[in-house]
Amino acid sequence: MILTYRYRLLPTKRQHIAFESILEAQRQLYNAALEERIGAYRNARVTRSYIDQTKALTEWRQTDEEARALPVQLQRATLKRLEEAFQSFFRRVRNGEKAGFPRFRGKGSFDSFGFRQFSGISIDRERVRFKGMPGAIRIHPHRPMPADAAIRSCTFRRAVKGWSVSFATSITPSLRSTSQRAVGLDLGITNFAVLSDGGLIPSLRAARRAERRTRMVQRSLARKKRGSTGWCKARTAVARCHDQTARRRSNHLHQGSARLLRDYDVIAFEALNIKGLARGVLARDVHDASWGRFISMLRYKAERAGARLIEVDPQDTTQDCSACGAKVPKRLADRVHECPDCGLFVDRDLNSARNVLNRAGVGPGLHNVAEYGMRAGGKLCCFRGTSSDPCAIETLPN
Ligand SMILES: [Zn+2]
Repeated sequence: MILTYRYRLLPTKRQHIAFESILEAQRQLYNAALEERIGAYRNARVTRSYIDQTKALTEWRQTDEEARALPVQLQRATLKRLEEAFQSFFRRVRNGEKAGFPRFRGKGSFDSFGFRQFSGISIDRERVRFKGMPGAIRIHPHRPMPADAAIRSCTFRRAVKGWSVSFATSITPSLRSTSQRAVGLDLGITNFAVLSDGGLIPSLRAARRAERRTRMVQRSLARKKRGSTGWCKARTAVARCHDQTARRRSNHLHQGSARLLRDYDVIAFEALNIKGLARGVLARDVHDASWGRFISMLRYKAERAGARLIEVDPQDTTQDCSACGAKVPKRLADRVHECPDCGLFVDRDLNSARNVLNRAGVGPGLHNVAEYGMRAGGKLCCFRGTSSDPCAIETLPN
């Protein structure tokens, strides 16, 4: 499987300048290649392919000193990028979607370049080197790459906080784990996820939290004269604000998914209609929660760890009693599940999470509920997780 490791770079001043000029050269190459394709089609109805253009690149490199100053693999990657833009365009045309012809890129909309094969570039003791870059660029090694990771390609990207590099590596996934610690998830807004065993992943609501500050910087930007120094500064402030929110959110999702994969081998969750939810009243919270991204993180982390993910039917997970199966209708405001048939009295989301686990047909199943009651001194108990103590289980007074 292919996993990507991203690192922040610590370029020197000279390297920073080199980065900017390489990026600009690649943008121009991209635009020139696009122009050539358009011209060839207009004049002679010929489609210029990636192969044609790499041949032309080779010829150009033979005649132009400046072109030779950069590794050929780097320039080929830029041409490949255009090729992919065309392929996606043709695919969309075939499928009758909105076509979107590849565009010329302005300075603001071209922020990366890279190597499609890991050749012409080397990495040694947390430093990257390639032709055209003065010296070796220091990587900020916040986490090691696994020893068995073979680097396939890499991309340099300019972001709000500076340059970063992503290495796409191929990694052998683990063998399927033999233990069967199973858990069901109920994804929500109040709590990000409630686990069927009473655990909890709290909500972050990164955007909600940053709302006031975002509004402030956006207002300040709106007041400034377009193009002025103050406007540029305010624009950076807005970008920083969004960037920070995005990083906080992504960090939260990574930590949550990693924790689940550390503690469980089988994870069941509901098939969610995220698009439908994202149109509703809670749209902003749904977007902030990013369940879709969370699930895709779970997928690749599960593959890597040899764990199993099970998607279950979400129909009536809230209404059904997780102990006896009786239907207990609830409104959105009802926070607890109280079953008139078997007397189960638990938090509403916990009841859903257990239903999810039951439907997955794995793990301890129904008898788990009794154990659960036993843990709290033989009484049926209510789940009362808080952000300070996510796994608190409390017995309710009779
Ligand atoms: Zn019941």
